[in-house]
Amino acid sequence: MPSCDILIAGCGYAGAVLAERLASQCGLHCLVVDRRTHIGGNAYDAPDAAGVLLHTYGPHYFRTNSPRIREYLSQFTEWHPVDYKILSWAEGRFWQFPINLNTFEQLLGRPAGSCTSEEMTATLAEWRVPIDLPKNSEEVIVSQVGWRLYELFFKNYTLKQWRRDPKDLDPSVCGRIPIRTNRDDRYLAENFQALPRDGYTAMFRRILDHPKIEVRLGVDYREILPHAGHHHLVYTGMIDEYFDHRFGALPYRSLRFEPETLPVEYFQPVMQVNYPNEHDFTRIVEIKHATGQRLPVTTIVREYPADYGPGKEAYYPIPAPEARALYEKYAARAEQERDVSFVGRLATYRYYNMDQVVGMALAEFEKLRPKFLRT
Ligand code: FAD
Ligand code: UDP
Repeated sequence: MPSCDILIAGCGYAGAVLAERLASQCGLHCLVVDRRTHIGGNAYDAPDAAGVLLHTYGPHYFRTNSPRIREYLSQFTEWHPVDYKILSWAEGRFWQFPINLNTFEQLLGRPAGSCTSEEMTATLAEWRVPIDLPKNSEEVIVSQVGWRLYELFFKNYTLKQWRRDPKDLDPSVCGRIPIRTNRDDRYLAENFQALPRDGYTAMFRRILDHPKIEVRLGVDYREILPHAGHHHLVYTGMIDEYFDHRFGALPYRSLRFEPETLPVEYFQPVMQVNYPNEHDFTRIVEIKHATGQRLPVTTIVREYPADYGPGKEAYYPIPAPEARALYEKYAARAEQERDVSFVGRLATYRYYNMDQVVGMALAEFEKLRPKFLRT
C-alpha cells in the first residue's frame, strides 16, 4: 500500500516541480503518479529507432524572460543555447517568418537588404486595419499588418490548428507570434532561449532525484487515491475530468504526429517549417537542427491537428470566451475543494508555455509552504 504526505497526479512540469520543492524544502514524502509510462509530461523527449532525439509530443522550445525560472531549472540542467528559427511555406516558396523586414522585402519582390524599418512601418500603417483593442485573433493580426499578410500566414493555419475561425479565438492565440519591423527573425521574443543540454527527460530525472520523491508510472491517480494516506493532493490533469465533467466537457484540441526517418543529414533548412495554406499538416519539425545532434540520418515529424475525443490526448485548451466561461464554473468549484491544488496547463485550462507552468508551480509552493512548515 502506498503511503505519502503529498499525492501528485501528473509528472510534467507542474507535478515534478512541486514534488521537488515540497520534498527538498519541507521534507515531505511525495508520491508522483502519471498514467503515462514516462516522466516529463508533454515535454518528454527520447531517441527514436534511428537514434534521433525527438520531442515526442511536438517541438518544445524552452524560453523565458524570468531569471528566477531559469535559475531554478539551472539546478538540474546545463543549457544548449538556440536561436529558434523557422520558415513558412506558402505560394510555392519559403517565407521568412515570423513577419519581419526580410519578409516585407520578399513580399514586395525587393532585393534582400534594400528596405528600411521606416519604410516597413509606413507601409504597415497603410495596410493595417485601425482597431484599438483587438477582440479576437483575426483583429490582432489585421490591426498590425492588414489582410494580405493575415491571409498568407495566419487565417488557414489557425483554421487547421483549431478548427475555428480566428475571429472565434482570443487575441492571445495569434498574438503569441511576434511581428517585427527589424531583421530579427527568431520565432520567439523571450530573452533566454535554450534547450536543456542533455534533453528534457534527463532534466526531469534530476528534478525528481530525491529520496523523498517516489514516482509511479502507468497508473491513474484515482487508483492510488483511496490508499495514499496523503494530506494534500496536487492535481495537474484536466480539470473537467477531475469533476467527472459535471458542468459539461471542456473543449480541447489534439494532434497526430507522423514521424519519418530519412537517409540524409538534414531534410529542410531549419528546425520547423509552417504550412499555413497547403497540406493537412500544420508544420514539419526537424528537431535535430535545434538539439545540435550530429547524425548521418534525420527524422522529421509532420504534425496534424485533430479533434479531441476517445483515445486522443488533450494537448491544447481552447482560448475562447465560451470555453473560459465553462472553465470558470470548474474553477469556482475547485476553490471549494479542500486540500487540493490545481496546477498546470490542463488543471487551470491555460495555453501556457513551460516556463509559465514552472512559475505557476513555484508560486503554488510558496502558498503551500506555511501550511506544511506548521505541521
Ligand atoms: P503536462 O505536461 O500535460 O503533464 C500533466 C501530466 O498529468 C501528463 O503526463 C498526464 O499523463 C498526467 N495525468 C493527467 N491525468 C492523470 C491522471 N488521472 N492520473 C495520472 N496522471 C495523469 N511550451 C513551451 O514553453 N515551448 C514550446 O515550444 C512548447 N511547445 C508545445 C508543443 C505542443 C504540441 C504542446 C502540446 C505543448 C507545447 N508546450 C510548449 C507547452 C508545454 O508542453 C506545457 O506548458 C507543459 O508541458 C505543461 O506542463 P504540465 O505539467 O502543466 O502538463
Ligand atoms: N499561427 C499561425 N500561423 C503560423 C504560426 C502560428 O496562424 O505560421 C497561429 C496559430 O493559430 C497557432 C498560434 O499562432 O496555433 C500559436 O502558434 P505557436 O507556433 O506558438 O503554437 P504552438 O507551438 O503552441 O502549437
